[in-house]
Amino acid sequence: MTAAYEYETHDYDVVVVGAGGAGLRATLGMAEQGLRTACVTKVFPTRSHTVAAQGGIAASLGNMGPDSWQWHMYDTVKGSDWLGDTDAMEYLAREAPKAVYELEHYGVPFSRTEEGKIYQRPFGGHTTEFGEGPPVQRTCAAADRTGHAILHTLYGQSLKNNAEFYVEYFAIDLIMSDDGQCQGVVCWKLDDGTMHVFNAKMVVLATGGYGRAYFSATSAHTCTGDGGGMVARAGLPLQDMEFVQFHPTGIYGSGCLITEGARGEGGYLTNSEGERFMERYAPNYKDLAPRDYVSRSMTMEIREGRGVGEHGDHIHLNLSHLPSEALAERLPGISESAKIFAGVDVTKEPIPVLPTVHYNMGGIPTNYWGEVLNPTAENPTGIVPGLMAVGEAGCASVHGANRLGSNSLIDLVVFGRAAAIRAGKVVDPEAANPVLNQASVDKAFDRFDGLRNAKGGTPTAELRLEMQRTMQADAAVFRTDKTLKEGVGKMEAIAAKLDDLHVTDTSLVWNSDLMETLELTNLMPNALATIVGAEARKESRGAHAHEDYATRDDENWRVHTVARVEGNKTSLSFRPVITEPLSTEAEGGISLAKIAPKARTF
Ligand SMILES: Cc1cc2nc3c(=O)[nH]c(=O)nc-3n(C[C@H](O)[C@H](O)[C@H](O)COP(=O)(O)OP(=O)(O)OC[C@H]3O[C@@H](n4cnc5c(N)ncnc54)[C@H](O)[C@@H]3O)c2cc1C
Repeated sequence: MTAAYEYETHDYDVVVVGAGGAGLRATLGMAEQGLRTACVTKVFPTRSHTVAAQGGIAASLGNMGPDSWQWHMYDTVKGSDWLGDTDAMEYLAREAPKAVYELEHYGVPFSRTEEGKIYQRPFGGHTTEFGEGPPVQRTCAAADRTGHAILHTLYGQSLKNNAEFYVEYFAIDLIMSDDGQCQGVVCWKLDDGTMHVFNAKMVVLATGGYGRAYFSATSAHTCTGDGGGMVARAGLPLQDMEFVQFHPTGIYGSGCLITEGARGEGGYLTNSEGERFMERYAPNYKDLAPRDYVSRSMTMEIREGRGVGEHGDHIHLNLSHLPSEALAERLPGISESAKIFAGVDVTKEPIPVLPTVHYNMGGIPTNYWGEVLNPTAENPTGIVPGLMAVGEAGCASVHGANRLGSNSLIDLVVFGRAAAIRAGKVVDPEAANPVLNQASVDKAFDRFDGLRNAKGGTPTAELRLEMQRTMQADAAVFRTDKTLKEGVGKMEAIAAKLDDLHVTDTSLVWNSDLMETLELTNLMPNALATIVGAEARKESRGAHAHEDYATRDDENWRVHTVARVEGNKTSLSFRPVITEPLSTEAEGGISLAKIAPKARTF
């Protein structure tokens, strides 16, 4: 029987789910073009995880020395360990300066150079001369609060352009037609318990990452992969989920992030012997080698008995040699975090740090316009009508197997903007909205009602913890056949327990028990796709460091994994990596020889 929930229907041209950097940039772009745009978000827009982004946003402005988009593109290709889609990586690097200047004109208060230009700092893996030259200062920053500045600016601009916000509305499920078109989304209003159906010509998922599938993560508790969960339930796939980035410098114990900008400003890592060990692992880039590399080097030091602290289980990040004025001006936020979360005065002592889950390279597959793909063997780039995905929820794929620092914020704005440009072309404001598939609406309410009244034996918090501990232990910085195989078995058993959940509170108003249960049902398919993809991938590439297959295998594995999750089972297929750039060398693009795969050394 269908659960009886009354609901209000809202008609829009576009509904954006998520109000982080990606969702707000898409919302603003859609509204600017006169599309009737709603933005639905489970937290107040400026509380989205983007607010926590510290270090900055990459664009080859060349304000602090020579730079070019071609160099930025090369670094992104290399950073991705040759798994990114070349067209999307070119689009990102080429459009980045435009997107940053737009942010400046919208009002983002960037830090400035002496001449008044946007200040840029060095970040890991960003170089000159196609990796042959010295590191470049490419990361534009508003002190160490760049995400905060961007989010507030984009929210203000979206309001100015009459986008309509539905704040503290939780999106439960997509509404899909029988022939696979997305028609809208079903939502629950958290503060009064009313139900809402959004009907639109285009739905944009901008729901962020799923860091909370792990026990220790730098991401907010709201990063629960809700977009990925909705997509999986709609029978659509997730891509490259095995690539999970560990940030080298989460504060030991709390997981709170210390930006890579700290090393960009001159900070360095030491082991228990006081040695600057990164000089051994990456003689050229040292502490500013890419994140996967630094995280693995730290883990090796700890494993070999050179970790610091009572248990020898972490590493020191040193900043005390930097002038205190520089710390106060460029890194005020992290100086405060170090005080609060580690009790450390950065002007005097090192910060205890440990690699911590930070970013999901995988996500909902899209082309570089943000249109969601449903790849099949016959049609690897077939799109899902009416559905887009942007930001960390999506996988365009520009980060491939490993994301470079400061390349996510630029991904949010470049592809949020691209989605809006595309919607301006494919959404006709004069046309009628699709007629809603009632069966799909009813299915969403039935699922909601089933969870609301779940009276099994497993409390949500208990099952979530089991999932988080398993992912942390078995899909970690280093992976082996044994841990992955066992991990898949454990995760399938854990996911099966979703049928045995116990929800205590059945009310509809501010029911955090039920909301966290919905979130757990979203985290689970993301986690399953991650560990199943990792188990399948018999090579080491980017963030996927497989001890039984220590090298990259381009012949067999330069492919995207495409995971479909149903219940606790995951089926995998593969999709070719796009190797063609958008422009040729004659048109000013990068030569194919420059971006041909080679060993990734630092
Ligand atoms: C601590 C930290 C520091 C970082 N620093 C940097 C940096 O300096 N440079 C850089 O490039 N990258 C950085 N990153 C990465 C980058 O910040 C993130 O990848 C990015 O902010 C993600 O943005 P987003 O718009 O995709 O999602 P988010 O900002 O996570 O926003 C997700 C949105 O979706 C909404 N939502 C989710 N589920 C639902 C649902 N079911 N119903 C309704 N709404 C929903 C939320 O309310 C929220 O508005 C950092 C990440 C972290 C965690």
